[in-house]
Amino acid sequence: MTETEKNNISYILNELGEERENYFNAISPPIIQTSNFAFNKVDDLRKAFENEASTYLYSRGINPTVDILRKKLAALDAAEDCLVFNSGAAAIFTSILANVKAGDNIVSVNKPYTWAQKMFNDILPRFNVTTTYIDGKNIENFERAILPNTSLIYLESPNSWDFALQDLQAVADLAKSENILTICDNSYCTPIYQKPIEYGIDMVLQSATKYIGGHSDVVAGVLSGSKEMIRKIFNSEYLCIGSGIQPFNAWLLLRGLRTLPIRLERITNTTKKAVSYLKQHQKVEQVIFPFDESFPQYELAKQQMTGACGLLSFIIKATDIHQIEKFCEDLQHILIAVSWGGHESLIIPKCSSIKHEEFDAGNSDHCMLRLYVGLEEPEYIIKDLEQAFDKMI
Ligand SMILES: *Cc1c(COP(=O)(O)O)cnc(C)c1O
Repeated sequence: MTETEKNNISYILNELGEERENYFNAISPPIIQTSNFAFNKVDDLRKAFENEASTYLYSRGINPTVDILRKKLAALDAAEDCLVFNSGAAAIFTSILANVKAGDNIVSVNKPYTWAQKMFNDILPRFNVTTTYIDGKNIENFERAILPNTSLIYLESPNSWDFALQDLQAVADLAKSENILTICDNSYCTPIYQKPIEYGIDMVLQSATKYIGGHSDVVAGVLSGSKEMIRKIFNSEYLCIGSGIQPFNAWLLLRGLRTLPIRLERITNTTKKAVSYLKQHQKVEQVIFPFDESFPQYELAKQQMTGACGLLSFIIKATDIHQIEKFCEDLQHILIAVSWGGHESLIIPKCSSIKHEEFDAGNSDHCMLRLYVGLEEPEYIIKDLEQAFDKMI
């Protein structure tokens, strides 16, 4: 098989890592639901202790079901290797913890994922690691922010609320010239629509809870990078924190992966229709979606992403918070819930994290709603939005 064939998405999702002759030629791989593995010889056990990264010893380390998944996810990211975690948050925490020491500085984009912010703001300062937040839309902001002790640049492109992008190639080039490690949260795009490693980003992570799982039934995360980096993290933080994915959840992700491209294709097409519908609606002030011509970084989005899927934001014309709350509650099919990437359409208003007395209808941020477009028929979703808009006074 040629290298090109090995990078083929169909090969990765259907064949890579699957050694059916080892399990009765079953099409669906087994869930090796075991905590530990036995040895015939003490010397074999001794060797396993010395090399836990490639010996089945204990499932906090490696596990055969998880290994199949790792091969596929690493290949999708165009990475040499990856680790799969019990959550996206665990992937974030581990990747950062593994790459900072006391006295270091991190340069992060503004408003990264909530629990990354929590780590930067509350946990790392206890260990004398500081974080400088910047508007990542502009490469000069990175150049200005870098300090002699900056060891890490943390990216999230696009952001999952306002979809702000960073020029991945430019940031990777800058970071390399300064000997700084780069990590990018790629949850929005998945590796189907963006491969940060191909632009020179060192490590890429994503919440597999979203599109990889795809059915709102598993929480998981992926961290990909070089063989050397993944091996280093496996032997220390990964085994220490002990937040690796469980075999059953790994199996659910393998199942999700089989249909990933087709789910994304469907969602992408429906999202286009939802964006067009919202853009023409008189009660909508603005639609924010990276693949819409009106998006300020549309050109960059087209340049480094091959697609955008189901997540978009819109600003509703409301005069008070109750109108926004009522709009969400009037939806008959679109559910009010966090997360995204599953089969079901979802909505979450920004005002759900704002106290009533602090709400300001003049602040467009307060009037923002995030819609996730799921796998339903496009008309079903649009009709639902329509009837909720109609009830607005
Ligand atoms: C959901 C999410 C995460 C965290 O993933 P979990 O699987 O929920 O822990 C990280 N980054 C982004 C952008 C997310 O949307």
